Amino acid sequence: MITFIFDPIDPSALQYAKEKLDVVAWTDKEIENYSTAEAVIVRTFKMTQEVIDQMPNLKIIAKHGVGVDNIDLDYAKRKGIRVTNTPQANMHSVAELVIGLALNCSRKINLSQKMVEKGISKNSPVELAGFELQEKTIGLIGLGRIGTLVGHKLKAAFSMNVLVYDPYTSELQCSEEGFIKYDCLEDILKESDIVSISVPLTKATENLISARELSLMKKNAILINTARGKIINETDLYHALQNGVIFGAALDVFAEEPISKNHPLLTCDNFIGTPHNGANTVDALIRMGTGAVDEIVRFLKQ
Ligand code: NAD
Repeated sequence: MITFIFDPIDPSALQYAKEKLDVVAWTDKEIENYSTAEAVIVRTFKMTQEVIDQMPNLKIIAKHGVGVDNIDLDYAKRKGIRVTNTPQANMHSVAELVIGLALNCSRKINLSQKMVEKGISKNSPVELAGFELQEKTIGLIGLGRIGTLVGHKLKAAFSMNVLVYDPYTSELQCSEEGFIKYDCLEDILKESDIVSISVPLTKATENLISARELSLMKKNAILINTARGKIINETDLYHALQNGVIFGAALDVFAEEPISKNHPLLTCDNFIGTPHNGANTVDALIRMGTGAVDEIVRFLKQ
């Protein structure tokens, strides 16, 4: 299977691909002429209709990662091209980042670092007072792979109460996980000390959190988004952080990526930003790379 790998993947995953498939890698000069491709592995490379049309033998597009927003799914389907992804590969990495962001925000770690760098006159400055996660309440918006792991990890580590807002999840499913299902987004926002978003970007979730929703949150609550940027209205979040409507926020994803260094949110001391780094661990990168290869091999065997 002639497989074009358009974006860099982990070296061990590339080696694995070369053992299983006939590979043209992103560093090869042949990568420019992809008309012979039968399979492709993509991370951010855009599989538009135009690109797909230039690959008459293409049978499978293997996404390295979860979100397939860089692939014209409808067109691929119409052409009978299989599209796969690696949904399990990075869920622990993203869930662990959520917990890192929760601790970072609640203990103002980034701000502490900045203050130390500037020079401090006394220990334990009042403005760095944070709060504990122990026995607090996490509100999960979305109880899929990542949301479920976040809930379990926070419950195990800090005995947190876990509330869930996910219209597509049953009360039974939530209670089996040891979580409590809420039917109303407003209620979960009112009761949570930390709100973490793990839903796909859809018409229903775009701008899910705007000024009104932020105003419902506790004054000492933290908002975390590792899903997709457009789920939160960034201008409204900026005003909420500036005006002390909530304690803090941490975003790994933004409406426009990469985030500009002039983004207003970066002027807020109670804001933490990471550059779509949720899946960026050696562990996840290996799993996503080898997982994409395995999907092509499985397809070949069918
Ligand atoms: P998933 O499909 O397993 O779970 C998504 C959950 O959202 C589902 O349970 C679904 O029922 C729920 N949901 C859908 N619409 C909803 C709505 N309107 N309100 C409430 N819940 C709703 O997905 P996942 O693997 O857990 O990933 C979640 C998100 O994280 C995705 O957007 C994904 O692209 C993103 N992600 C980001 C990174 C990163 O690097 N930051 C990495 C992986 C995934």
